[in-house]
Amino acid sequence: MKAVVSLNSGSSSIKFALYTLDTGQPPVFSAGGKIERIGLAPRLSIRQADGTVIYDRDWVDGAALTHGELLADLFAWAAEHVSGREIVAVGHRIVHGGTTFAAPCLVDDALLDALDALCPLAPLHQPHNLAAIRAIRRLQPTLAQVACFDTAFHHDKPEIASRLALPREMHEQGIRRYGFHGLSYEYIARRLRELDPDLASGRVITAHLGNGASLCAMHDGHSLDTTMGFTALDGLMMGTRCGSIDPGVVLHLQIQMGMSPQQVEHLLYQKSGLLGVSGISSDMRALASNPSSQAQEAIDLFAWRAARELCGLVASLGGIDGIVFTAGIGENDADLRRRICERLTWMGIELDQDANMANAGIISQPDARVRVLVIPTDEERMIALHTLNIVEGNV
Ligand code: ADP
Repeated sequence: MKAVVSLNSGSSSIKFALYTLDTGQPPVFSAGGKIERIGLAPRLSIRQADGTVIYDRDWVDGAALTHGELLADLFAWAAEHVSGREIVAVGHRIVHGGTTFAAPCLVDDALLDALDALCPLAPLHQPHNLAAIRAIRRLQPTLAQVACFDTAFHHDKPEIASRLALPREMHEQGIRRYGFHGLSYEYIARRLRELDPDLASGRVITAHLGNGASLCAMHDGHSLDTTMGFTALDGLMMGTRCGSIDPGVVLHLQIQMGMSPQQVEHLLYQKSGLLGVSGISSDMRALASNPSSQAQEAIDLFAWRAARELCGLVASLGGIDGIVFTAGIGENDADLRRRICERLTWMGIELDQDANMANAGIISQPDARVRVLVIPTDEERMIALHTLNIVEGNV
């Protein structure tokens, strides 16, 4: 009677999921949720599989509570929730595995040191991922922890898709295109093989459109290219991130406008994207229900950029057999999917508008040359599967 926890720890939130394990069976989702507003007034909310909220707690005066203290609360709740079962391991989403880590690993001191060294490559994410591991080590020193890397799925993509057009020595120093959202893409590749094995063995572009957004060109379930590169800033326009921009803009902001590197970082990661262009919100739902021309322009730009980047990946793949939409926007926003696909009719993409409006599994016309699907992603399950594989070898 065992259980496993998946954790995705960020600067102001920690997402988690708890799975129960019975011999020979796939992990069963038991409950999951989020600690939000860390550093302000934290809130822990937990739902069970049918969506019912089973735990909800606010720390109104909790601005000083650390990630570690909040994780202690979460683990106390989890131990009680699975009473009679032993939590055998915690799996973590780790944003960066660098050039070395191409597969999930059991955490030990040497791994933590190696992952610390990668913090400069993902300064807004990696330190928080690692802080959660250390906090759990202090709480439960003997509990197995597994690091699952967002870069790993892209590790074996062709060399040409990894290279930036910079002097060679910089590539050797790790300044190269890594790619992210790998746990989501890996889950989708796996799920697509169950749902449509023919398509899964072909050329598929998966559009992970959430607050963070990227595209991945997959052939036979493997990443060949992706829109995020050295950092999770590259590629598509996102909720608050700019996506690809002329690097000359960064120079201009600093040299001509006198902004500090930290100010530029804040601008590009936190103030740009849908939020920057609309001046209203980073949230697609909020913009969709806002009739102002600024909100509509932000949505138009998001769709235009997505279609444009998608065409770039078609070139990387040498053609296209299918598109999979996933994550918050990709799974739920029929209008946005329509806006993107309408720009791609020339390549054989034709939506079945009723199926699209219903967020159905297959949303293309039956006789369309390119199949278009909506598949909900589940990064937490992917983390749980990897974690089990490492601690018990039983996936
Ligand atoms: P994260 O990257 O934080 O995991 P999500 O995958 O949850 O993000 O996606 C968040 C985005 O999805 C937000 O822009 C939100 O407005 C959008 N979204 C979620 N549900 C819907 C919906 N029903 N219709 C339109 N957009 C939605």
